[in-house]
Amino acid sequence: MTWKTDTYAGWGRALTATGDIARPERASVLAKLPTAPAIGNRRSYGDAPLNDNGRVIDMTRLDRVLDFDATSGIVTVESGLTIGELARLFAPKGWLPPVMPGTGFATIGGCVAMDVHGKNHHHIGSFGQHLSAITLLQSGKQRRITPKDTTLWQATIGGLGQTGVILSAAIQMLACKGDVMMVTERRAEGWDEHIALLDASQATYTVGWIDATARGEALGRGILEEGETGAGLVPKPKPSKSVPFNAPHFALSKPIVRAFNAAYYRRVPADGRTVVKPIQDFFFPLDRIHDWNRLYGKRGFHQFQCVVPLDQAGALRGMLDKIAGSGLASPLAVLKRMGEGRAGYLSFPMEGYTLAVDFPNRAAARDLIGELEDMTTSAGGRLYLAKDALATPEQMAAMYPELPQWQKAVAKADPKGTLATDMTRRLQLRSAT
Ligand SMILES: Cc1cc2nc3c(=O)[nH]c(=O)nc-3n(C[C@H](O)[C@H](O)[C@H](O)COP(=O)(O)OP(=O)(O)OC[C@H]3O[C@@H](n4cnc5c(N)ncnc54)[C@H](O)[C@@H]3O)c2cc1C
Repeated sequence: MTWKTDTYAGWGRALTATGDIARPERASVLAKLPTAPAIGNRRSYGDAPLNDNGRVIDMTRLDRVLDFDATSGIVTVESGLTIGELARLFAPKGWLPPVMPGTGFATIGGCVAMDVHGKNHHHIGSFGQHLSAITLLQSGKQRRITPKDTTLWQATIGGLGQTGVILSAAIQMLACKGDVMMVTERRAEGWDEHIALLDASQATYTVGWIDATARGEALGRGILEEGETGAGLVPKPKPSKSVPFNAPHFALSKPIVRAFNAAYYRRVPADGRTVVKPIQDFFFPLDRIHDWNRLYGKRGFHQFQCVVPLDQAGALRGMLDKIAGSGLASPLAVLKRMGEGRAGYLSFPMEGYTLAVDFPNRAAARDLIGELEDMTTSAGGRLYLAKDALATPEQMAAMYPELPQWQKAVAKADPKGTLATDMTRRLQLRSAT
């Protein structure tokens, strides 16, 4: 197997690493490689998939469907398969991945290692709650684990790949009517209405787009999207476009973002509408524009994503007020109500409201994110490791009270620290407490 030296980044492109990358095609080849952290499609924004001056194993060629039981709906797949491909293959047969993040390019390994959540989290919880088995590669040896392996299981799901390379996973798929989505979109004129609509939503899939530039009376305005699967005919998904080069820094300047957001808000009529969409357009709206992260230019960008408990909605409103006042936010902001479901010690979800906002990577934005992180800690909330590039070890320890259990299980699974990454080092996640 050849190793290729390269400089690579997470989706935010603000942090980079240089090192050797292997891209094995078969599990037998992978088993002979020296142990190194596995990475997927690097759709995590920060340094979770980076190992500067070290090695990583790119799993994206290990993408086969290994088994499918049409009676139970359990599918076993290699970890390099993308969640979007899994949906594309199985939706016409009446099965959907139970949980899908906002990009179809996330691999199954990445979905397990971040215990991702989707637009249906309030009903069915996180990705890891729908797995019946995982095969890990630990020092060249395969080990099949199930939820009965309690501590190793909980350290693996949402565990940043630190217990071993995830080779495959058995996923309980969700029965669906077909590969069509009925989507109802309605405007929320401000914060209180937005929260009330999220609280009242009974839909299977619910998400709020938020105009993070709106201020005063309009603070928190946005569009609530509610979706149900259905059967029928829809136009083919729109063809993909690509962002061919790094955009100049003014591409997402304050007036442009404000104008875009106002137009985006008004695209939905004042009394709402229901439309029919192909599933990928609903679940993965941004995937149609390949490499859209280049819109932020060479310096890249950060995403701030936090979740706060239900009774801290006021604290979240305070954060949004700060963001809107700063004039630094980009068009991509999402507000969602989460349920309790989480499957691992370091899983992000908690019952409450989650806010995700992108910021171009500039000193002012980093300072603002620092303030938002402190506000999250004070509100008893937490930050999402899939998005983080700036938090401190102290913040993580405060937000993730099960960190010591995770550390113990990881120390047992990988005693020599061969799976450590830039993120685990920056946040001192693997240090004994
Ligand atoms: C546009 C966009 C929208 C998103 N929306 C959501 C969302 O709605 N909900 C949500 O939860 N997340 C969301 N995300 C985050 C994304 O789902 C996660 O970051 C996911 O982990 C990315 O998968 P990946 O294959 O790119 O993994 P990577 O980013 O490459 O890796 C993530 C972590 O998993 C580990 N890992 C990857 N593969 C393996 C393996 N085979 N074995 C062991 N460890 C492994 C890596 O070491 C790393 O720690 C979004 C990201 C983008 C870009």
